[in-house]
Amino acid sequence: MNTSDAVDPFDSYITRLRRAADLLELSEAQRARLEKPDRIIERAIEITRDDGSREILHAYRVQFNNARGPYKGGIRFHPEANLSEVKALAAAMAIKCAVVNVPLGGGKGGVEFDPKQYSRAEIERVSRAFVRAMGDALGVDRDIPAPDVYTTPEIMGYMLDEYEQMVGRSEPGMITGKPLALGGSLGRDTATAQGGVYVLEELIDAMHLDRSKLRIAVQGFGNAGYHIARSLHASGYTIVGLSDSRSALMSERGLDPVRVYKAKHEHDSISSLYCEGGVCDENKMKEDGVIIGTNADLLEMDCDILIPAALDNQLTVDNAPRIKARVVLELANGPTTPDADAIFAERGVAVVPDVLVNAGGVTVSYFEWVQNRQGLAWTEEEVAARLKPIMTGAFNSMWQMAHDRNVPLRDAAFLLGVDRIARAMATRGTL
Ligand code: NAD
Repeated sequence: MNTSDAVDPFDSYITRLRRAADLLELSEAQRARLEKPDRIIERAIEITRDDGSREILHAYRVQFNNARGPYKGGIRFHPEANLSEVKALAAAMAIKCAVVNVPLGGGKGGVEFDPKQYSRAEIERVSRAFVRAMGDALGVDRDIPAPDVYTTPEIMGYMLDEYEQMVGRSEPGMITGKPLALGGSLGRDTATAQGGVYVLEELIDAMHLDRSKLRIAVQGFGNAGYHIARSLHASGYTIVGLSDSRSALMSERGLDPVRVYKAKHEHDSISSLYCEGGVCDENKMKEDGVIIGTNADLLEMDCDILIPAALDNQLTVDNAPRIKARVVLELANGPTTPDADAIFAERGVAVVPDVLVNAGGVTVSYFEWVQNRQGLAWTEEEVAARLKPIMTGAFNSMWQMAHDRNVPLRDAAFLLGVDRIARAMATRGTL
């Protein structure tokens, strides 16, 4: 959280839920169930550092709602991971699975530490310790984790291995986003970005925008940010801005995400394409029309489509009035605060919400779970062919709802998702 109206992420969820609950006229009991997680698991996990010292880390798993299916959601390794954030992300997962109508509920996990300061072996020990602490609550029909910020397929592999040792049987469907060698799905690594591309394509048609003129800026250069930038660039879109946690590259002429990725891969930062040891090659930058700035500069740069693909609370009352994009496509979870939403609505900026835009990730996670349960391995083409209609169908339902109810797109997505969860709870006869 980096600015003055940076709100508690769970409070943002409650604000948005209550607006949908009012429009749907939910009962008090339904509201109460949707305002509280089913279960919060909080553990201190102990690991051994490479130098032999012992360390205690805080770990969380929140199981939000399973009315529509087993709890489902990623595990985040981040120094600012905390319970409120994990609760908000778990709630968003329940809404997200309902928006794309896959039969899963919502959950999320986190460990509060900075993996960049830990060796690979130490990260493996954290991953295994997480599963030893939470394993009783996980399982293919109970709660299915996946990767999130700073967690990877390899980490999912360690977690699966630890879990299978605990239960004494093979159960690949207990976790998704695994390496292919352990039953992962083709297309999972690019699924979140690909889902975002399908949504953007539908939006461009719905808003009658001219593809050839669109200038796109992407904040964050990890799994979500890199793949959407690469895919859009390959389809002929102009990427005018890219950033990682340290800096931003901006060019009216356009950037090549694959070239930037190679530089980041080799030297750990995107600016290393032009700078070495703090000294930048001004001539090379001039040749490419590139300016190096901060993440704040990237968010406020002149562009048509802004894609936040890093962290939450990036668009706030402080910068919302200065955002120049006409469309904010939320590939990250929770990048926009409710107050910024209000400013964007007033200024006519379309905010396409995270619960739809990044739902391609959980949709292909669902495909992975289905394949594991059936002992099948689909081709990449099969995965893409199944993902596209789910994403475009969900976009069109949201778009229609926004027009029918005359509400912003986020409210429309919440109406769809909350209604489906409420119906599932009611159909169970519990409310
Ligand atoms: P990642 O760990 O692969 O990458 C995170 C990126 O954010 C990195 O490029 C990092 O440099 C950047 N970053 C970190 N701190 C930053 C800061 N302070 N300012 C700007 N950039 C910063 O994570 P990811 O999987 O790409 O996830 C990014 C977002 O997308 C998160 O909000 C995540 O919850 C969401 N998301 C990801 C998936 C998925 O399948 N990967 C699915 C759904 C939602």
